[in-house]
Amino acid sequence: MLDTLEKPARDAGAQDVAHFDVLIAGAGISGIGSAVHLKQQCPEKSFAILDAKDSFGGTWETHKYPGVRSDSDLYTFGYRFKPWVGAPIASADEILKYMGDVIEENQLNDHIHYGHLITHCSFSRETNLWSVEAISKADGKTHRFTCNFLWMCQGYYNHNDPYIPDWSGRDTYKGEFIHAMKWTPETDVTGKKVIVIGSGATAATIIPAMAGKAAHVTMLQRSPTYFFCSPNQNELADRLREIGIDEQTIHRVVRQQVMFDQQALTQRCLDEPDTVVEELKELIRLYAGPDFQFEPHFTPNYRVWQQRLAFVPDGDLFQAVGRGAVSVVTDHIERFTEKGILLTSGEELEADMIVAATGFKLSVLGDIPFEVDGQPVDWADTVTYRGMMFTGVPNMLWVFGYFRASWTLRVDILGDFVCHLLNHMQAKGAKRVEVKLRPEDHNMPLLPWIEEENFNPSYLVRDLHKMPKRGDKPEWRHNQDYWHEKDEIPAINLDGAEFAYS
Ligand SMILES: Cc1cc2nc3c(=O)[nH]c(=O)nc-3n(C[C@H](O)[C@H](O)[C@H](O)COP(=O)(O)OP(=O)(O)OC[C@H]3O[C@@H](n4cnc5c(N)ncnc54)[C@H](O)[C@@H]3O)c2cc1C
Repeated sequence: MLDTLEKPARDAGAQDVAHFDVLIAGAGISGIGSAVHLKQQCPEKSFAILDAKDSFGGTWETHKYPGVRSDSDLYTFGYRFKPWVGAPIASADEILKYMGDVIEENQLNDHIHYGHLITHCSFSRETNLWSVEAISKADGKTHRFTCNFLWMCQGYYNHNDPYIPDWSGRDTYKGEFIHAMKWTPETDVTGKKVIVIGSGATAATIIPAMAGKAAHVTMLQRSPTYFFCSPNQNELADRLREIGIDEQTIHRVVRQQVMFDQQALTQRCLDEPDTVVEELKELIRLYAGPDFQFEPHFTPNYRVWQQRLAFVPDGDLFQAVGRGAVSVVTDHIERFTEKGILLTSGEELEADMIVAATGFKLSVLGDIPFEVDGQPVDWADTVTYRGMMFTGVPNMLWVFGYFRASWTLRVDILGDFVCHLLNHMQAKGAKRVEVKLRPEDHNMPLLPWIEEENFNPSYLVRDLHKMPKRGDKPEWRHNQDYWHEKDEIPAINLDGAEFAYS
């Protein structure tokens, strides 16, 4: 685990140096998918994957709370190249099994260096090499790697240090307190009165999973969230299977269907949000009962789809609310007390256990110190090229996926892009590529990474100042729009003026 690796002082004199054409940081769903693309499309390139953990999976290895599952369907959260054959919403264990199969089928195991925490990355325009330092858990020493291209697949949040608001009086609380990210198999809720703070995807997962075991669960939210309830099955996939269609074809067709439906839903959220909200309510009533009261706990005050829509397979959260195992409170925390939480309204909620499902801390490029030509990189001073490359930082790409569509769709798109770029560089005899603002971009306004108006998850808003800047042109922003990018990115002219080669 990352958190068992202390970061000792930098040992820049590390002696052993291993060189690879490409280094991939992270063996999560991004790193493993990227490695497969590299192996298939650039078979001559040597590569290694470094991960601080003892195993692959990233997010799916970190989170161990009850019921942990995807909230996207696996036909699109799975890779383009590996059919998903189960129910659309998958548990962490099922996702890990799928990734394990991908690793085995593509013989990636020998390429992965587990227990290697990357602590420093520096690029030299003189040698056109990255020098990457990583502390090995096995010997506690700093090992040095060099590579021509650095493929950053280290995710977007800190896996060890979850976001816990600074609640007053937390240390006076005498019961158990835990953040969902820190759940261990020993954590037990049996017969306990539990408060879960939060109402996002994590709360929507953990609450129904605890509802049968705990004496009672209270979901405490500051503000309501939109939920999308639906059976955990894909009728088209089931039907195609029934009539004997092969899994490759089913994967391709169902992926296309899911993406088409998502695009239609996104568009409808913009065009007719009130109708969509009514439909979401109707779906909830199917599970919670026809008389379910939406006011005040299930009437969000933001535009539907402005934040990620929390998916609830089989409406399990609402089944639990409907049968009284779960209650919902919408209020603010005044402070913790010995017995529980005092709310701003004056009410005190008592609990044996309080679970924070309050999200993450953003981690920009793994919070790893980066240098280019001996100068530290401040990501906030860079401008992003399509949310993947950065001005002033050569031979590097960060896989930052989608939030409204499955993250992994972008892993496939960027996988093709990197391989295309590496092959292009080889054909040109170039050793270095960097993105540069073109003359016509110089007066472009430099804006925060996301448009808060359009999409505003709180972990991004909290630390937006640490993120690279975006411009106001399509080339200089991560538009979070799979439906445009799936055509735009493959069509990029790699000899365009925004790419400088040496
Ligand atoms: C509970 C949960 C459910 C989610 N469900 C969905 C979903 O259904 N659909 C969806 O699209 N998205 C979902 N997400 C978002 C999800 O995190 C991404 O979709 C995806 O898993 C990110 O994959 P990744 O490989 O880019 O990063 P991560 O999963 O974060 O993996 C990064 C890896 O890099 C390693 N690493 C980081 N820093 C270093 C370092 N300095 N040195 C060495 N190694 C390092 C980590 O150890 C980790 O293994 C979910 C997130 C959570 C927390």
